[in-house]
Amino acid sequence: MITSDVLIIGGGAIGLTTAYELIRRGHSVAVIDRQAVGCESSWAGAGMIPPGEIHLENSSYRKIAQLSSGLWAELAESLRAYSNIDIEYRTCGALVLPEDQKIATTQSEVELWQQQKIPVKRLNREDLNSFHPKFNSPAVEAYFLPTQAQVRNPRYVNALKVTCEQLGVQFYQHEQIREIKIQHGQVADILTDTETFNASQIVIATGAWTSQFADWFEVSIPVEPIRGQIVLVKLSEVFPSIIERGKCYLVPRADGRVLIGATEELVGFDRDCEAETVKRLLAFGAELIPEIGDLQVEKSWCGFRPVTPDHLPVIGFVPGYENLLVNSGHYRAGLSLSPASGLVMAQLICGETTELNLEDFDPERFHLEISSNEML
Ligand SMILES: Cc1cc2nc3c(=O)[nH]c(=O)nc-3n(C[C@H](O)[C@H](O)[C@H](O)COP(=O)(O)OP(=O)(O)OC[C@H]3O[C@@H](n4cnc5c(N)ncnc54)[C@H](O)[C@@H]3O)c2cc1C
Repeated sequence: MITSDVLIIGGGAIGLTTAYELIRRGHSVAVIDRQAVGCESSWAGAGMIPPGEIHLENSSYRKIAQLSSGLWAELAESLRAYSNIDIEYRTCGALVLPEDQKIATTQSEVELWQQQKIPVKRLNREDLNSFHPKFNSPAVEAYFLPTQAQVRNPRYVNALKVTCEQLGVQFYQHEQIREIKIQHGQVADILTDTETFNASQIVIATGAWTSQFADWFEVSIPVEPIRGQIVLVKLSEVFPSIIERGKCYLVPRADGRVLIGATEELVGFDRDCEAETVKRLLAFGAELIPEIGDLQVEKSWCGFRPVTPDHLPVIGFVPGYENLLVNSGHYRAGLSLSPASGLVMAQLICGETTELNLEDFDPERFHLEISSNEML
């Protein structure tokens, strides 16, 4: 029997930051994953860290985005000190182009950033002409977010794992859960093929696979997968900032590699990506950086973003249980939100006050929805 104060199921960025925050608070922590940790969405994502949020109109969400953005610099330093891994966290800025390049449509977005006191600079045609010699766009206007950052996420999850190990977190990888024993309304033992796990608190952090726990716990946690595909190319000389247009973007890494992303597809957990999509992403890249049109694809891949019906994460106690929590559903922002999500989950478990109102993220909101539907 393996016992710990907290057992975390799922070792992506969310499970790992939760483990990191808990072990630093003196709890014993075990993480189980059905494969090697950090191989799913947290590996596949682009690693953009916006300075806040304007697309979802929810004040708690905007607050967690800003809180998280402010935690990155210190976290990157701490991970480097423990693991000796540079996660390439850097404030690179982002050029945001209007979706329809010929129409000036970014004013309202600029105002939303300004309202949140996040630095933003409007750009006119002349500014765009001088943005970078490699850049080309017919856009009449755009804006620049100087405090947008990025992280090299495969290195980030690796650094988190090494750091957690150094601090004493126990990892159990390639463990398939076979049975979950529930006694007196509490989670008792979790049985895998090889081990039995027992913990005072259990955290589900299984990203896009979270709804699989619905049957075991007889509760709805509606987190579904949205597939995203990315293409990687290597430029001879890189441009400095992220470039975004609508839901597509170019993310330049320090070594000249550029990630071109991403699609949003409702295809379940299908990993078969079409060559046509790679071509479309390349064409998008070449429109903005013409040199990309002459490059070979170095690699392409897909990942599954965990999304809830209201696009807000689920962070909190699972209804009906005193020792079961969930930290999931971070959709397009699970990497950028991971420092704050791990922090508030640890604060919740330790009974500390959090600086955030977690009500809007409460898993209860889906439970209530079901209960009221059942009454109709
Ligand atoms: C193409 C793409 C681009 C993205 N770009 C960005 C970006 O720029 N910025 C950003 O902030 N976010 C981005 N995201 C979103 C971000 O990657 C996710 O929101 C985040 O990684 C989710 O982290 P997670 O830990 O919840 O899930 P995951 O990283 O998917 O981890 C879940 C873990 O749970 C494990 N697991 C599942 N089921 C079980 C089980 N039954 N038992 C044990 N273990 C289990 C899995 O093996 C996995 O290790 C992007 C995503 C994609 C796909």
